Amino acid sequence: MSGVRGRFAPSPSGRMHLGNVCCALAAWLSVRQDGGEMVLRMEDLDPDRCRREYGELLIDDLRWLGLDWDEGPGKEGACGPYWQSARRDRYEQALQTLRARGELYPCYCTRAQLHAASAPHRGDGVVRYPGTCRSLSARERAEREKTRAPALRWRVPEGTVAFDDRFLGPQAMDVQGTFGDLLLRRSDGVHAYQLAVTVDDMAMGITQVVRGNDLLASTPCQILLMRALGGKEPRYGHVPLLVTGDGRRLSKREKDLDMGVLRQRYTPEQLCGKLANLLGMLDKPEPVKARELIGLLKREMLQRETLCIRPQDWTGEY
Ligand code: GLU
Ligand code: ZN
Repeated sequence: MSGVRGRFAPSPSGRMHLGNVCCALAAWLSVRQDGGEMVLRMEDLDPDRCRREYGELLIDDLRWLGLDWDEGPGKEGACGPYWQSARRDRYEQALQTLRARGELYPCYCTRAQLHAASAPHRGDGVVRYPGTCRSLSARERAEREKTRAPALRWRVPEGTVAFDDRFLGPQAMDVQGTFGDLLLRRSDGVHAYQLAVTVDDMAMGITQVVRGNDLLASTPCQILLMRALGGKEPRYGHVPLLVTGDGRRLSKREKDLDMGVLRQRYTPEQLCGKLANLLGMLDKPEPVKARELIGLLKREMLQRETLCIRPQDWTGEY
């Protein structure tokens, strides 16, 4: 046993698309190549977006592709449950740790207020929380409590967080300057992704995280939170996002090359071969089992921000 533990942590908010599948394959190969253990964790906290059926489909799609896991749904282990919706007590415990140190406070801002307060916009879509509710008095809180259930925010420490991405190299971010105090629980009681993912990566003993680089900016947040909760951060590696020729990202909502479509067009071996070719593991697409690719994924193949695909190359011809 190498001591490496990796995970794939999808949100069951729709059918996986080609980009999600590519990412799952990269995460799985990284773990298997290192002789590590793979955990599958369903990030199904948001009841507005996630559905159990999507989770079941996701599991079926991963199995169909030949990606397996040592712990996860259908394979209970020491770190379960593996659906985040069944782990809320753990997130509450973590909140309690922070609360006991005075690092949490209730935030009464509405979405509209947050947007209005964050001008001028920086153009990158990031809205920094300006700290509106950071130092309300007990009376002000009681007053606001009458009309609105609060969200919970964490007092984010100042300073730069640096980490060395396995594929993209050295990264640094001032989390307080970029995001401000982080939201850890929404006003409707749903725990935030940043909290849940951090608590679970710690609790599940994860040592390596390989995921899409749309989450690159989340990593410093998670590292900070992990340190505050007394954990040791895993090694992070962010893999390229798939984009079409005009630079558009694939998305679940648009049902871009989702697994429903891909499974009609390809056998698992054909799809693995296409993905291996896309990532540079095979010179041309030829049918291959996922496990035959173990050892072929090299760091150089992932050292880029995007990978361009042409949808017409994925219509089923081989
Ligand atoms: N659940 C997140 C997503 O599907 C990914 C979490 C992670 O890999 O850290 O976008
Ligand atoms: Zn607020």
